Amino acid sequence: EFIEKYAKHPHYKAPTGNKLHAKSWQTESALRMLLNNLDAEVAENPEELVVYGGTGQAARNVESLQKIIKVLLELDDNHSLLVQSGKPVGVVRTHPQAPRVLIANSNLVPEWANWEHFEKLKEDGLMMYGQMTAGSWIYIGTQGILQGTYETFVACGEKHFNGDLRHKLLVTGGLGGMGGAQPLAATMAGATFLGVDIDPARIQKRIDTKYIDRMTYSYEEAIQWVMEAKEKGEALSVGLVGDIGDVLGRLIEDNITPEILTDQTSAHDPVFGYVPNGLSLEEAEALRKSDAVDYKARSLKSMARHVGYMLELQKRGSITFDYGNNLREFARQGGEEDAFNFPGFTPAYIRPLFCEGKGPFRWAALSGDPEDIYVTDQALKEAFPENKHLINWLDKAQEQVAFQGLPSRICWLGMGEREKAGKIFNDLVREGKVKAPIVIGRDHLDCGSVASPNRETESMLDGSDAVSDWPLLNLMSNATGGATWISFHHGGGVGIGYSQHAGMVVLADGTERAEECISRVLHNDPAMGVFRHADAGYDKAKEVGEEHDLLIK
Ligand code: NAD
Repeated sequence: EFIEKYAKHPHYKAPTGNKLHAKSWQTESALRMLLNNLDAEVAENPEELVVYGGTGQAARNVESLQKIIKVLLELDDNHSLLVQSGKPVGVVRTHPQAPRVLIANSNLVPEWANWEHFEKLKEDGLMMYGQMTAGSWIYIGTQGILQGTYETFVACGEKHFNGDLRHKLLVTGGLGGMGGAQPLAATMAGATFLGVDIDPARIQKRIDTKYIDRMTYSYEEAIQWVMEAKEKGEALSVGLVGDIGDVLGRLIEDNITPEILTDQTSAHDPVFGYVPNGLSLEEAEALRKSDAVDYKARSLKSMARHVGYMLELQKRGSITFDYGNNLREFARQGGEEDAFNFPGFTPAYIRPLFCEGKGPFRWAALSGDPEDIYVTDQALKEAFPENKHLINWLDKAQEQVAFQGLPSRICWLGMGEREKAGKIFNDLVREGKVKAPIVIGRDHLDCGSVASPNRETESMLDGSDAVSDWPLLNLMSNATGGATWISFHHGGGVGIGYSQHAGMVVLADGTERAEECISRVLHNDPAMGVFRHADAGYDKAKEVGEEHDLLIK
């Protein structure tokens, strides 16, 4: 009956309100966030259980999903569910402060860790790709990446354009689940924006959710719109249907050099993500099925061409950076030897934030009532009156971000701040100032939770880019600290073979138990970022470590 109402494939919807369906808020929260990940307003393709990021799934298949739901409805506080690549495989004896769900997705022994081996296992029904927050049930729609993208564009503006992005054109590819945050982040930061996607449905989704202003199939029209807007200093965003390689080629021909150039096509997956140049969507779909080897070869070649154009535009003056999709690596494999001549966004703009334990802290209102999020926004503004940047963000988010699925919010908070925010949220629940509990989580893309040498840990000061002890320590700290569910994944962001990362979600249900768990988890989690970066030799991290008395002397 629950399945009939909330989980009849492919129509998924999280229950709202303050009535429990499961035995406790701990399991109810996991259940609601799992269903929220698959809500048509949130997920890119609920039919295939795909949430975002190419093929990032929330559960292995419909049968596994229904079994997970059934277990969560019955699970008590002395047991925890084990999920292996999206399939429930057992229930273990634990205790009330232990995580209720323990998730491991897409992990492979290093020698076998490549897309080919993974795809074979997937075909045999043995694995699924969990991306980062898809398989760990804390995706909150495009807003999840919005602030990170905004922070990146603002940091880029500060570094290269005296903090002013007006009269600047930003060009990018890919307007999918994550990439779709780019137009709104760019206009919020003041820039004029042109985004190219081969799939019109993806751009339409950004129009529907108010992330982009206009859409067209015509290159000429798009250029006319953006050049006029740029001239006037207008923060307009335009989505153009087409192949990003083709469009960059035309910009070069027409002598148009954007001030900022990046990309968020799903390049991390050369077969089921990136669409090779010259193929229509339908042709691509057919070729994926009939000849994956040919498809991959075409994809790598197209990425080499695409990056070749990016390098040319970089020579002509575009500030060019990789935006975390491993495009450079696959372009290199496709024959572009200089692919790594432009930097990734982490060393370029984000690492200083990681040194302070900052990262994409997020929360969702299980009540389903947007008012609850506004109450949390207000509480944070009062708690951090000196943080003008945060207040500015919260105001902008309130005005401009349309909620998808359960109302939620994201903001980058650091060491000390996350714990403070978590305790405030728990108090709001206890005092009945919000209508139901709040779940607090984050992306796996965080300061101390990921090893990803082409992205979050690119060019570490001490050369420790590929060391993945760190995300494992993060996972263990959050398991023992009492997160409500935890996850360890492989291949998120940059694809199989290129990353390992851990996730956590902790519930604020107003109880003392929650208060204890929050004070451990939301202390330890950002502290991992400080440990990791202090150990690698970053002065800022050492300073923050001193300030919070974290370092072993
Ligand atoms: P997605 O699969 O939802 O969207 C990718 C989009 O790229 C699709 O809309 C697709 O139509 C488009 N595309 C593919 N080939 C194209 C081509 N040749 N020309 C134009 N458009 C093309 O993926 P997503 O969730 O938006 O993620 C995008 C990428 O960014 C992924 O590789 C993901 O791993 C990475 N990512 C980056 C961050 C970050 O913080 N930087 C975070 C999460 C994900």
